[in-house]
Amino acid sequence: MAEGDNEVASREVAVDVRWSLQRRRVRSVWILLLGGPVVVVGANFALGLICDQCGMVAAVVWILFLLVRCYQVLGFRCPRCGEQFYIKGSARWGGKHCLHCGIRFGDVAKAK
Ligand SMILES: [Zn+2]
Repeated sequence: MAEGDNEVASREVAVDVRWSLQRRRVRSVWILLLGGPVVVVGANFALGLICDQCGMVAAVVWILFLLVRCYQVLGFRCPRCGEQFYIKGSARWGGKHCLHCGIRFGDVAKAK
């Protein structure tokens, strides 16, 4: 295997890691969206016995986690062109192609 082949292979692995990290971030947004209210209601019930404001604190913490995770997901940079994958003028949540270069999400072979 030539040295150039190693460089291409390591770059493809790095791109694959970025796609994988982004997949996990998107998955965690869905978990936060769907599971968060259940946890907040449970915390409100359980912690409400301890203090009056604990439920509100749990809700604020959940919203902060959700906002940070959404910010990370929407700020994802395309491995090919380096631009924001989901944002071009306005945000398009859940798009499968880069709004700038058109690379399909998860496509390693076409990444530069
Ligand atoms: Zn792109």
